[in-house]
Amino acid sequence: MAENIVLLGSTGSIGVQTLEVARNLGIRVSALTAYSNIDLLERQAKEFRPRMVSVFDKTLAAELKNRLAGLGTEVLSGPEGNRAAVGIDGVDTVVAAIVGIAGLIPTIEAIRNGRNVALANKETLVTAGRIVMAEAERRGVKVFPIDSEHSAIYQCLAGNRKQDAERLLLTASGGPFRGKKYHELTGVTAAQALEHPTWNMGSKITIDSATLMNKGLEVIEARWLFGFTPDKIRVLVHPQSIIHSMVEYRDGSVIAQLGQPDMRIPIQLALTWPERRSANFSRLDLLKCGPLTFEEPDMETFRCLRLAYDALEAGGTMPTVLNGANEAAVKLFLEGRIGFCDIPRLIEEAMLTHDVNTSPELDDIIETDRWVKRMVGESICI
Ligand code: NAD
Ligand code: MG
Repeated sequence: MAENIVLLGSTGSIGVQTLEVARNLGIRVSALTAYSNIDLLERQAKEFRPRMVSVFDKTLAAELKNRLAGLGTEVLSGPEGNRAAVGIDGVDTVVAAIVGIAGLIPTIEAIRNGRNVALANKETLVTAGRIVMAEAERRGVKVFPIDSEHSAIYQCLAGNRKQDAERLLLTASGGPFRGKKYHELTGVTAAQALEHPTWNMGSKITIDSATLMNKGLEVIEARWLFGFTPDKIRVLVHPQSIIHSMVEYRDGSVIAQLGQPDMRIPIQLALTWPERRSANFSRLDLLKCGPLTFEEPDMETFRCLRLAYDALEAGGTMPTVLNGANEAAVKLFLEGRIGFCDIPRLIEEAMLTHDVNTSPELDDIIETDRWVKRMVGESICI
C-alpha cells in the first residue's frame, strides 16, 4: 500500500477526492501541486502539511508563500515545481491528476525517479504511451490506472492469463447527448454539454464525455496499459455506469467489475492494490439499480470516437495530434468561440494535415502538441 504520496493536480476533481482517500487511510502527503487555485491549495496545505506545494502561476506563488509563512512548507512554481515535487525523497507513489498533456513530463519524471504512478491523467498515455510504459518497465515501477474503466479491466485481468483474454469491453455512459443525431447537436451550448448524467468531473473531461472523445482517449489508454491492439478493444454504451468495464475470455466467459459511479473507489484501489481497505463509499444495491443495458456507440454522430481509433491505427505522433487538437478545441468551445460540432471537425482537419512521425521521442511529441494547438487556434481566427 502507498504510504507517502505526491499529488499532482490537487485542486481538481480527482485531486480533491484523492485527499479524501489519503485522509481516510492516513497516507502521508509530501507535496501538492496545482495550476492557480491558491485558496484551496492553502486549505489543503494547512491540513496535510506537505513538505512542498507548487502553484504553476508564478505571480500567485508569492501570495501563497505569504499565506503559508511559518508552516515549514516550501512554495515553488512553474514546471520546476512539478519536477521538484516528483523528486522528493521517501515518496513511494505519485498520483498524476493534472488535466491534459501538461501532466506528461511530470509523470515521466516521476517514473524516472522510480516512483509508482497512480494515473488519472490519461493524456499522458494517449500522447506518449509507448515511451511511458517502456520507461516504467525499465525502472520496475507500477503504473496503476485511476480511470474507472481501466481500473475495472485491471481487476478483471487479475488472476487470469493475459493470453486467454480475447477482448476488452470498455463501457461508456454515452454522455448527455446519447441518442441524439448529428444535426441535433450543432446548437448545443457548453452549459448543456457540462451536464453529465452519471459522473461529476472536471470541465475538460466532461466535454470529452459529451463528444465521446473521452472514450476514444480511453481506447488509446487501454492499448498502452494492457497491450491490446485496437481491434481487440470494443466500446459498449452502458448508460447506467454500473459496469465499469469487462474482459471477454476465449472460453466465452466475460468478467465484469461493478460499483457505483464514485471515483473514490478506483482512486483508493490504485493506492492500496493488491490490498482492499474498508471504506464508507457509496455501495451498489443491485435490487435498486434497475436494468443494466448496452448499446452500440453511434460513431457517425460522435465522430471523435472514430477519429481516436483512426489516430491509434496511424500510430506515432497521430494520437498527439488528436489529443492536442481536442484540448485546443474544447477550450475554444468552453469559451463560446466555436460550436459543439466544430470540435470533431477541427480535430479531423488537423489529422489530415499531419505527416506522422512513426517513432517519436518525447521532444517530438511536445513539439507536435505545440504545432497542433497553434494551428487550431489560427484556423478559427481566419
Ligand atoms: P480538473 O480540471 O478538475 O483538475 C485538474 C487539476 O490539474 C487541477 O488541480 C489543476 O490546478 C491542475 N493543473 C492543471 N495544469 C497544471 C499544471 N501545469 N501544473 C500543476 N497542476 C496543474 O480535472 P479532473 O477532472 O480532476 O481530471 C484530471 C485528470 O484525470 C484528467 O486527465 C482526466 O481525464 C482524468 N480523469 C478524471 C476523472 C474524473 O472523474 N474527474 C475520471 C477519470 C479520469
Ligand atoms: Mg473513465
